[in-house]
Amino acid sequence: MTTALDAFDGITQLNVALRDRKVSATELAQQLLTDIEANASLNAFIDVNPELTLAQAREADDWRAKNPDSFLAGIPLAHKDLFVTQGWRTTAGSRMLDNYVSPFDAAAVESLRQAQTVCLGKVSCDEFGMGSGNEHTSFGPVRNPWDHDVVPGGSSGGSAAAVAAGLAMAATGTDTGGSTRLPSAFCGISGIRPTYGVVSRYGMIAYASSLDQAGMFARHAQDLAHLVDTISGFDDRDATCVQTCAGQTNAPGRILSQYQQQMEQADTAQPLKGLRIGIPKEYFAQGLDTGVAQAVDNAITELTRLGATRVDIELPNTELCIPAYYVIGSAEASSNLSRYDAVRFGYRAQDYDGLEQMQARSRAQAFGDEVRKRIMIGTYVLSHGYYDAFYVKAQQLRQLITQDFRRALTQDCDLIVGPVSPTVAPAIGHQQDNPLQEWLGDIYTLGVNLAGLPAMSIPCGFAKGYKQQSLPVGLQLIGPHFEEPRLLSTATHYQNATDWHLHRPGVTS
Ligand code: GLN
Repeated sequence: MTTALDAFDGITQLNVALRDRKVSATELAQQLLTDIEANASLNAFIDVNPELTLAQAREADDWRAKNPDSFLAGIPLAHKDLFVTQGWRTTAGSRMLDNYVSPFDAAAVESLRQAQTVCLGKVSCDEFGMGSGNEHTSFGPVRNPWDHDVVPGGSSGGSAAAVAAGLAMAATGTDTGGSTRLPSAFCGISGIRPTYGVVSRYGMIAYASSLDQAGMFARHAQDLAHLVDTISGFDDRDATCVQTCAGQTNAPGRILSQYQQQMEQADTAQPLKGLRIGIPKEYFAQGLDTGVAQAVDNAITELTRLGATRVDIELPNTELCIPAYYVIGSAEASSNLSRYDAVRFGYRAQDYDGLEQMQARSRAQAFGDEVRKRIMIGTYVLSHGYYDAFYVKAQQLRQLITQDFRRALTQDCDLIVGPVSPTVAPAIGHQQDNPLQEWLGDIYTLGVNLAGLPAMSIPCGFAKGYKQQSLPVGLQLIGPHFEEPRLLSTATHYQNATDWHLHRPGVTS
């Protein structure tokens, strides 16, 4: 099947068409709303509001007429349903917030709106961001456009599926433990999670506040440079948002100008000359699928062909990432989700006797299994008598993991390169039957969040899935704090030399 975006492989191309009036934002939005309906079987979108989308598109067309140089005006995108939006429901993938409409926009949504992007609607996610397959949602599993029987990755599965299927040019996502990188990898698109604190978390529904960060999805790294730059910047409504990034003000413009400078200064024949890429031996250990390893290996060879130097490194505490993350993440979730008290907003049970029963029943009925499991684990590890044994221990492990990355990225290399996930996308239902497997699949992504680092996933090939079908493989790039430009320029050089990011799924229904 085809969509209105088939004619444009990225924002740069679409921008030229909009600027030259070959297409208007309004026409495009109108066609995409029809395409979204025709692709309802993907189950990517949770809510659309055609009237509002078209009003935004008309405004973007007017804006463009007066500001011909604007890059993002009229670009159609989708927002993960963890970002609150005025005019569209914000469900967080949960029955708890089934009919919730926010009175305000999240900071990232606001910034993209000010850049005159057009919101096509809200896209599905795992409930409160908890999951790796977009199956833990009260709206039914999202399907991967490459094969409707496999997951798109989670928790931002709707975002990645929408972009991969050509239903949106870009999408917002959140990344607490890998949720921009994993869905990008599984759906064959590019995704970035910036350094913790670079993007405001205001209006992003909280899962685990010390790990949560907003990110973006698109096909090209070059497009991500514009998008992530737009949502970055200090915001005093988020107490953990940073004012400075390694001596520079945290404001839109920082990422894009450094990125453009790095692109301009690169050697034409060997654009990655001087870049040391660290290959962690723990990321290629037992458990990594051979087809995935092969694709990642080929990508590393390509990076060295472009001038990078390969350095073998160690991140010895990698296997501790899973217990540390799931203890800290669950602890913070149990605290954050206590706000859903059935009193002020959200779902309320029909029958109850007194306040306590009303809250217990409402929470039991509205939260899904995965969320209830994490609330229970979190409450347990924070409780008297277990706090030191679990929560404090996990924080100590977090320090060790952070030190591994700091050592590697200051002494050994400029960027870390490896796989995103041990496998390609698993079948829908597979993770439900193997809950531990789902958590173990996060082994290569969680460390980034525990250390607060920026990271990306870009397409680097295909490997065989469970039916022996070809599914996309993602290459992970991890940088030092605030080095988003270095990640983005490396990814762009790789994409200028390869075409994995241009492959598209033939969407079948
Ligand atoms: N899979 C991880 C989890 O379930 C990460 C999810 C995320 O980044 N939101 O917690």
